[in-house]
Amino acid sequence: MHSYSLIAPAKINLYLEIIGDRPDGYHELAMLLQSIDLADRIHLRPNGIQTIRVHCDDPQVPLDESNLAYKAAALMAGQFSDAYSRYGGVEISIQKRIPIGAGLAGGSTDAAAVLVGLNLMWSLGLTQSELQELGERLGSDVPFCIVGGTAIATGRGEQLSSLRSLDHLYAVLAKYRDLPISTVWAYKTYRQQFQNTYVAINNLVERKQRVHSGSMVAAIASQDNQRIGQLLHNDLEKVVLPAHPQVAELRDKLGQLETLGVVMSGSGSTVFALVESQFQAERVRQELRELLPDPNLELWTTRLTHMGIQVVS
Ligand code: ATP
Repeated sequence: MHSYSLIAPAKINLYLEIIGDRPDGYHELAMLLQSIDLADRIHLRPNGIQTIRVHCDDPQVPLDESNLAYKAAALMAGQFSDAYSRYGGVEISIQKRIPIGAGLAGGSTDAAAVLVGLNLMWSLGLTQSELQELGERLGSDVPFCIVGGTAIATGRGEQLSSLRSLDHLYAVLAKYRDLPISTVWAYKTYRQQFQNTYVAINNLVERKQRVHSGSMVAAIASQDNQRIGQLLHNDLEKVVLPAHPQVAELRDKLGQLETLGVVMSGSGSTVFALVESQFQAERVRQELRELLPDPNLELWTTRLTHMGIQVVS
């Protein structure tokens, strides 16, 4: 049996709107998700024993059953117990490049890579949509991470429609090293403060359909970079920025530079600027470093990509 190496890209949110409460207790969301070429590397090696083990070069990442990559392997082992008994377990090694608790779906993309890799290792022959159905049980970003690219995500974030690729654009990401933000906290706080603005449950379907004809989708379809930049939006900024002045300052400073637009990704704490070239990305990165010389501020220049999980060997 083979070992597999996979590339697991991060995502950014070009748009995140909280529409309302769903009957199942989750939030109904309208998002535009975008893969970027900042990625973890996942290596899967069959170990021939009935055990799943996680290794990671970042000591902040949990190695136990709470790791999303572990959960993905355990889900596969439970669903395909014949294959698990026949082939045995797996050593999962994660080379962590995506910052943690950053709103970049780092854990979800690792889980997505494990689903894709074990499907190959155990010769299961599952289709992409079958893998996405399994992924949904692990987290609402996992189905997107499997396919990647540029997509509208509605429901809890798991109902996807692919859009025209934005591979020609770049993003400068900025995050304070010791400032992770809990996704659960951000959504809970939003509900406490803004539930009175939610669309009624019986209007959710109509509102969701309107997302597909929204301005941002039109801007992406026509590849109107300026408009895409102007329409970047994230409702969660309303709770994260007041609670974390450092993130608010970061967004403010990045907003002073010449870019297409600036917004926070997911529940933060990453803030990103969209730009039109690698050259501009490097310039913005340098200018931001001069404005905020804090050594705890980490910066990345990345390219937008149409790729989801990729098998490299
Ligand atoms: P999202 O954008 O999906 O909300 P995030 O990027 O904000 O996610 P993650 O980096 O996925 O957040 O990490 C959130 C929590 O998940 C961390 O507290 C971490 O301990 C835990 N975790 C579990 N598995 C992983 C993993 N494989 N990689 C990173 N974090 C993980």
